[in-house]
Amino acid sequence: MDFKSYIRDVPDFPKPGVMFKDITPLLQNHEALSSAADCLLKDLKKEGIDKVIGMESRGFIFGPMLADRLEAGFVPIRKPGKLPYKTLSESYNLEYGTDTLEIHVDGITKGDRVLIHDDVLATGGTALATTKLVEKLGGIIVQCNFLIELSFLNGREKIKPFEVKSLITY
Ligand code: AMP
Repeated sequence: MDFKSYIRDVPDFPKPGVMFKDITPLLQNHEALSSAADCLLKDLKKEGIDKVIGMESRGFIFGPMLADRLEAGFVPIRKPGKLPYKTLSESYNLEYGTDTLEIHVDGITKGDRVLIHDDVLATGGTALATTKLVEKLGGIIVQCNFLIELSFLNGREKIKPFEVKSLITY
């Protein structure tokens, strides 16, 4: 399936100079939605993943779909102050300033095999912070998995040596 044809470029969103990759046309089409979820898991053994980790907020769309297909649990990673229970935090650098991500301390049990999923891999800052949270809780990262990779931003380099899978590359 030509997944790229379901991704809409929105220039200057959410701020000037950003070409936003809008995945909603893909989500609106059942065949594309279901096929994308299947293809995201193509290189993985179905057995042996305990948790799928999804980053706020668009990692919450495919994350639970992938978890269900893998018969795994789903664990959200959120912006500060959103998770109600005890959390572990990790800060990371943005172009201007820093940002922080949080996970529930009981989201991962030591030794859990983990798939990390987000919609877009851009600079890799979000994914790198997520890998740190997972490893601090004793999780074993099996794959970092993305619908879209903006390869010109070299995010893949930042999360080396983890295995990276993306369905659509620009
Ligand atoms: P980064 O930390 O730079 O890899 O950015 C990844 C996060 O920002 C992901 O959660 C994406 O949802 C979002 N993101 C970054 N760039 C874009 C883009 N061009 N279009 C849509 N989402 C983006």
